[in-house]
Amino acid sequence: MSSVVYKRVVLKISGEALAGDKEFGIDFNVVNRIADEIKEVRDLGVQIGLVVGGGNIWRGRDAIGMDRTTADHMGMLATVINALALQDALEQRGVPTRVQTAIEMRAIAEPYIRRRAIRHLEKGRVVIFAAGTGNPFFSTDTAASLRAAEIDAEVILLAKKVDGVYDKDPLKHKDAVKFKELSYLDVLNKGLGVMDSTATSLCMDNKIPIIVFDLTTYGNIKKVVMGNDIGTIVKEG
Ligand code: UDP
Repeated sequence: MSSVVYKRVVLKISGEALAGDKEFGIDFNVVNRIADEIKEVRDLGVQIGLVVGGGNIWRGRDAIGMDRTTADHMGMLATVINALALQDALEQRGVPTRVQTAIEMRAIAEPYIRRRAIRHLEKGRVVIFAAGTGNPFFSTDTAASLRAAEIDAEVILLAKKVDGVYDKDPLKHKDAVKFKELSYLDVLNKGLGVMDSTATSLCMDNKIPIIVFDLTTYGNIKKVVMGNDIGTIVKEG
């Protein structure tokens, strides 16, 4: 039987993924399915740090006529809502978890403390990193890169609705070609919509590979941690 190739990962789940087919909010069928998958992977002994987005509820950059910093604070709060939904679904399945927020809200979650996060991971708890980086003008992709660097994760698993990175939007162009492998500079220079440039640069500087894969197919998270060649890997060229 094949075994896992990654011992510690950061799994980034966008808010959009949690909305399923809905345009807004949380689809609990999706949350439950993701929780089932995370449980399977955690039961294999993989340490999982989860970074969750908030775009299904609020995106700071899309707010019109608002102070951007305030709008981004709202976005970070949205990620906390999603984090609590995922925590609940995981704990219902018997998976021990901790939510750690980058902005303190001690009544509902722990503040982010790196050493404590690592300790939780070592004890088999899934740590859900919420409130992004805690700073406006950043994204949860950047939060994923930052946390991955801080906790020494071997890889970022970037769960998407498409099965990898294409040269153009595969939903709009039938002749779009999927990349198996890319360098960070390819992503930056070609303007490929993998992650924003801040997040990509952080991964490049810290040599953290990113695997972009399709979350809508059940079992894919497990396939990725077992080294199956699905999706697109972004790494040093
Ligand atoms: N956000 C922020 N700083 C961060 C992370 C997120 O201000 O470090 C805000 C920002 O407004 C963003 C929103 O939170 O639009 C939701 O995060 P993101 O857009 O990354 O979520 P996703 O697209 O992954 O669902």
